[in-house]
Amino acid sequence: MTRRDLLEYLQDFAWRDIAAAGPPAETTGAAARAGAAPVPAGGEDPLAAADLPAMGRALAACPRCRLCRGRTQVVFGVGNPGARVVFVGEGPGADEDRIGEPFVGRAGQLLNAMLPSIGLKREDVYIANVVKCRPPGNRDPEPDEAAACMPFLRRQIELIDPAVIVCLGRIAARHLLGNTAPISSYRGRWTTWAGRDVLPTFHPAYLLRNPAAKRESWADFKKLREKLRADEGKG
Ligand code: URA
Repeated sequence: MTRRDLLEYLQDFAWRDIAAAGPPAETTGAAARAGAAPVPAGGEDPLAAADLPAMGRALAACPRCRLCRGRTQVVFGVGNPGARVVFVGEGPGADEDRIGEPFVGRAGQLLNAMLPSIGLKREDVYIANVVKCRPPGNRDPEPDEAAACMPFLRRQIELIDPAVIVCLGRIAARHLLGNTAPISSYRGRWTTWAGRDVLPTFHPAYLLRNPAAKRESWADFKKLREKLRADEGKG
């Protein structure tokens, strides 16, 4: 990485602005935008849904794990349904639970600032989480909660059919790839899942707590940019 690259990246991240930013404005949630309405027991099977909006509707009243008891709403996913890149996070936090869209809090603002540094916009990609309901106190999802929700993430990915998946943080990597080692030991190394290229990298929330890790994160994002450019060249 050149010094100039790093400086550009640090500027793109707009750290101070993110730190000073207030809470995100209320918007219509992703589930609501998808036309989601509570479905009675015995309603449509989300895994049988033909598209993302139908799947979002079928999941809107999901009772499959204990996280349903504390949520305001299911945070299904957001973005381009034909995205080339899917970003997978851990689970909704307080802002996401309130607004109904993944990555809208401080970590989301950082992600939004990181994407343009490699020529992407939030609207270009798809963003989803391992669990779609907020774990209380932002704790890690329990294994049974993740197990209950993972089939829906897998189906979302199948429907979107991206070339590349980015695992944001150790929880996404653990549940998608089965990787339980510390993320620092495998971040930035391409792997595959279900025939797709997967890049594990640090979670933006980790970068907010550990700004020094932005250097490695930038290296990872450049690998993503290279892969997307190479794929474009092939097409
Ligand atoms: N962190 C996540 O992993 N997902 C979100 O949606 C927000 C923060």
